[in-house]
Formats: sequence, C-alpha cells, structure tokens
Amino acid sequence: MNSPDTLQRFLFEDNAIRGELVHLDASFQAIRDNHDYPAPVRRLLGEALAAVSLLSASIKAHESLILQCRGNGPVHMVVAQCSGDYSLRGLGRWRSAVADGDLPTLCGEGHILMTIDPGKGRDRYQGIVGLEGKTLAESLERYFAQSEQLPTRFWLACDGKAAAGMLLQRLPGDAADSDAWNRVNRLASTLTSHELLGLSVQEVRHRLFHEEDVRVFDPHRTTFRCTCTRKTVERVLRSLGRAEVEDILAKEERITVDCEFCNRRYTFDAVDAERLLRAPSEIVAPSTRH
Ligand SMILES: [Zn+2]
Repeated sequence: MNSPDTLQRFLFEDNAIRGELVHLDASFQAIRDNHDYPAPVRRLLGEALAAVSLLSASIKAHESLILQCRGNGPVHMVVAQCSGDYSLRGLGRWRSAVADGDLPTLCGEGHILMTIDPGKGRDRYQGIVGLEGKTLAESLERYFAQSEQLPTRFWLACDGKAAAGMLLQRLPGDAADSDAWNRVNRLASTLTSHELLGLSVQEVRHRLFHEEDVRVFDPHRTTFRCTCTRKTVERVLRSLGRAEVEDILAKEERITVDCEFCNRRYTFDAVDAERLLRAPSEIVAPSTRH
C-alpha cells in the first residue's frame, strides 16, 4: 500500500511535547532513482531524508536545512536537504562494495553535520556531532543531547521503496502531568519499522496516541525538487578561474556539468564560457577607441 508524501506536526499541548511524523513515498523514489544505489546506501539516504524533514519541521522559518553524514567507511557521504517548503533533495556516495550493517559498519568513523540556512543573507548555523550511535536515529539523539539540550527522540525507517520517521521532543515549560514524557515514549517504543513504513502518518499517530490529548496541525506535502540552476553552476565555473576553464575547453568542445542531486546536465561552449568569465567591468566599460 502506498501512503502519500506527508509531514504532520502534532502537540501534546498540556504536556509540552512536540511530535512529528513523516512519510516519504514518491519524493524518496525520485531521489533514489537518480543513482544506482546499493541497498544499504539507499536505506541510509531514506532515513536521512526522513530525519531532515522532521528536523526542518521543528525549526523556525528557514530557507533550508542540510544534514550530512561523513565518515571513513564504505559509505563516505550522505547528504539530505529540506527546504522551508518541504521540498527535498539528497544523495549518497560510496567507495566500494557496501555490506549491510549498522551505522558504524556503513560509515565508519565520522561525524554528522547540520547546517541551517535562515535565508535572506543571514548567517548560517552549523552543528556537529560524532557518528557514535548504532543508527542514524541514535546519533541524532546524541546530537540533541549535546547541543540543543531539548530531549529529542527519533524513529527512522526505510525499506528502499519508502522512508518514514517520527520525532518526539520535550519542549521547555511545565507539563501538566510529570510522567507524560515517559508515558508518550513508552507508547512510541511499541512502534515497529513495519508499521512506520506501512501505515499513513494519521494511522501511526492514532495507533500510538489515541488515548492522549493531542492537537494536530494541517499536514504538509513533501516533494522532490532540486535547487540547482544554471546561475549557480556558472558561479562554480567562475570560481575555477579563467585558466582552468580555458584548459578544459582546449581539451573538450564543451564544459559539461551534471548536477548530482537531479542529474540535470548543464553545458557551456566557448562562447558561454567567455561570457561568464568576463568581469562585469569589461562588459560595461565602453570602448573609446575608434
Ligand atoms: Zn539539480
């Protein structure tokens, strides 16, 4: 059964606990199909996309949130990005045959890097934590324990076709019932990956918390969308410098840049390259010679 791409926030209002559930279907498949990923990479990428969606829903207005896992293991990088409108993109890189296993088996020693881009030219915020847990969920829980100090729990699952996740976070403020956080976590701990992937977000919430007083917010639709543009690629080429660009064009007729997130191809011939390399002053300065 396919569940639609949905992210839903909910609140245990009297008990200062935030909850979120996400189910990624077509959006995950579009990202997964961009590359021929080995099954373990696909699974980790799905979990990272579910996690970045949940994290994105828990922070205030922002342009994008990027979650990166980098390590010295067979899977050396997984990147997942969620924009403020819940559009997602992501990719994984691996260097050799990848045997299935826990997070340390896949990624080795490394770290998780979280980057929040608030947009509008404001400074980016970065946080880092070691890849120390057995799972991505565990590592993220440690991240929150170390940096944010808000107790946060994650449940993440991916079967290669869909990805899903749940977040519970204890908010500042008093709970009407001092045992609520423990009770909600006990209920959540009965959730299986099979249920998380097979049920809709509404069904999961009902199955776990139907006896709790929960305020539910309007669901959001998650989509796959790449933020690459010809302009951003031009900026990268310009940063290479004239010598390097001309060097490539001496060997090849065109410069070809493929976006790794969406496989879109950007090509630049010698005329394009000259146009983008020319400094703005050279374009606007009128020639006085006759
Ligand atoms: Zn792209």
